[in-house]
Amino acid sequence: MQIVKEQGPITGEHIADQLNLTRATLRPDLAILTMAGYLDARPRVGYFYTGKSSTQLLADHIHKLYVKDYQSIPVVVNENVSVYDAICTMFLEDVGTLFVVDEKAILTGVLSRKDLLRASIGKQELTQVPVHIIMTRMPNITWCQKEDTLLDVAYRLIEKQIDALPVIKETENGFEVIGRITKTNITKAFVALANND
Ligand code: ADP
Repeated sequence: MQIVKEQGPITGEHIADQLNLTRATLRPDLAILTMAGYLDARPRVGYFYTGKSSTQLLADHIHKLYVKDYQSIPVVVNENVSVYDAICTMFLEDVGTLFVVDEKAILTGVLSRKDLLRASIGKQELTQVPVHIIMTRMPNITWCQKEDTLLDVAYRLIEKQIDALPVIKETENGFEVIGRITKTNITKAFVALANND
């Protein structure tokens, strides 16, 4: 790195000469430094220093994490199921957010834990109240698509103070729910980054 910083662009052969090594010995090391983004190589010109710090390289990497690689399977309920049944689904599926869909499987709402808790402390009979009465409904739903970046999702979760976004696909009838991305997915991505997975 020091040699390239001071003398770049410099060929692999010249670096090897200065270190009294063969080009072949040096090749894997140069490959690692190039892949990691510290060095760049141009054919017939040689290696040069990119000038990027490890923090910058990490930031570059984070900008390239996409929803499609981290999303989970969505848990959906029909808008006519009761609040009672939605609570059971939330426990059974072990999720914190349910997405509500209509007969055509199109997204119409979102149910969070607190939405269900709020409904439960009222005097209503929970088996009689359909979830569409208490859900957050379209068009007030924040969503994302599988090509969006994880960072974009993180910004939306923070800005809207919510725990999850549906991953949707646009169809002629509306939004079809194809995935779920939550704070947990982002936490896992964070850990994977630290472990260099
Ligand atoms: P909790 O209410 O359990 O703390 P959230 O913070 O996710 O969970 O939800 C806060 C409120 O925002 C709830 O009323 C919920 O219906 C709504 N909400 C949750 N996710 C979304 C979303 N993706 N788009 C719009 N509203 C949402």
